[in-house]
Amino acid sequence: MKDTHKSIAQLFVALLLALCALLFAALPALATDDERLVTLVNKEYVLGMDYAPDTLVSLSSFMSANSGVKMCSTAAQALEKLVNAARADGITDVYAISGYRSYGVQSSLYSKKITYYRNLGYNTNDAQVHAATVVAPPGASEHQTGLAIDFGTSENGYSLTESFATTAFGQWLYANSWKYGFILRYPKDGMDITGYIYEPWHFRYVGAPHAEYMTKQDLTLEEYYALLTDVGTLEITTWDGTVYQVTYNDYYPQFVEEGASVSVAAAGSGGGYICTTRVGKVNFADLLNHWSEKEVCALIRLSVISGYDDDTFRPNNQITRAELLNLVAKVQDLLLDAGENYASLDAEEFAAMFADVYADSWYLDSLQKTYQYGLVQPLLDSDETGRYFFYPSRYALRREVAQCLAPLFDNYTGEIEGSEVYLSDLEGEDEALREAVQLLVDHGVILGRPDGKFYPDTTITRAEVSAMLYRIFQSYAKVGQGPLADQVLDTQE
Ligand code: ZN
Repeated sequence: MKDTHKSIAQLFVALLLALCALLFAALPALATDDERLVTLVNKEYVLGMDYAPDTLVSLSSFMSANSGVKMCSTAAQALEKLVNAARADGITDVYAISGYRSYGVQSSLYSKKITYYRNLGYNTNDAQVHAATVVAPPGASEHQTGLAIDFGTSENGYSLTESFATTAFGQWLYANSWKYGFILRYPKDGMDITGYIYEPWHFRYVGAPHAEYMTKQDLTLEEYYALLTDVGTLEITTWDGTVYQVTYNDYYPQFVEEGASVSVAAAGSGGGYICTTRVGKVNFADLLNHWSEKEVCALIRLSVISGYDDDTFRPNNQITRAELLNLVAKVQDLLLDAGENYASLDAEEFAAMFADVYADSWYLDSLQKTYQYGLVQPLLDSDETGRYFFYPSRYALRREVAQCLAPLFDNYTGEIEGSEVYLSDLEGEDEALREAVQLLVDHGVILGRPDGKFYPDTTITRAEVSAMLYRIFQSYAKVGQGPLADQVLDTQE
């Protein structure tokens, strides 16, 4: 009997232990690779020896790399975009030296470094301290996350030295890596904060909007983590106008909104969680996921267009002639150099030239600007006394849009590619309109419709005009002109 009791008790304890083991084993499994994208890993916050990501993919499918170099798939996808963008900018001498490293590999790298310093005559303690500033101790290396990469280039003999900073690839990375979610992890003079020497070759994937915020605010991951734990919530607007809410929580958030992502904030226990929610694009609810969202947001960022006071943008509303001219005047300011040459006309005098415009009309400034440049004239009628009719509240027709958008290419210095698109319903229209439309077609501003028609006498929506204006900025940007020239154009696709 006694034995039976004992064995039942033993069984009970064994069960309890098994349950505990199960529970604890289940905890790390809660965080998938994508739930560690913003995780802080350093000498203070270390990964366990068992931690290994489970979505590792090889980098050699899209770039030159040492054999077997891998990263987590989300980071690798972003890296592929980064590498393609670098290539598009003429930076082709790019190489991946090291990506994911297991705890074991890191451990042997670290031991080797300690041996190296011991051989130089350091005692064990000093050798460890020195080794730890150049090689992360096991568990303290970001390489174990599968989110870090050591880049190389033949320009400095693939060496992991400060000379990487002056290479073409290095320079390109400092200017552009954030656009693809990567940060320079160990900046110059950052040793006191990061615990590591300057490593111009080591980049860490953290994703949007974190990479952009840290880069622009000049924060290390340690400082970003400290800031988040301090303020609790950050609202971040990225380059393309997307608004994110980033919150720090001590516990895994109970309610995670659809589309939000959660990341373990720091490795080890008690690090909390970072919840990243895409709140919307500049807060216009009816723009979120609208086909024109990217184009409209780019224009909002440039202050060319805005939404309404009730927080709607109304992308599908038709646009009036006054609204059109107001947009064109703003684009004119940004793309054509005529700004300072405008004579300041007296509002009363100018308005008196029109039968339907008043000195206090809201669009008067825009009308003056476009009039002085000659953009608005094709849209005007006049009576026998010579007074103009502007018809400000009439909906703009596509023929009118084409005629006042085409001159916006006056400052364009690149070559025009030309196009095969032929619009059958422009046959018989006057030469000026046909030329204007052709120019916009050649620049890809007007895209041919499947039926090969232009529909010059139909109206146009706010979204459609925005897309056309955005494409004009894009054309300029491709030849390094205009306000979008130094921004990423298509990384969001
Ligand atoms: Zn590294």
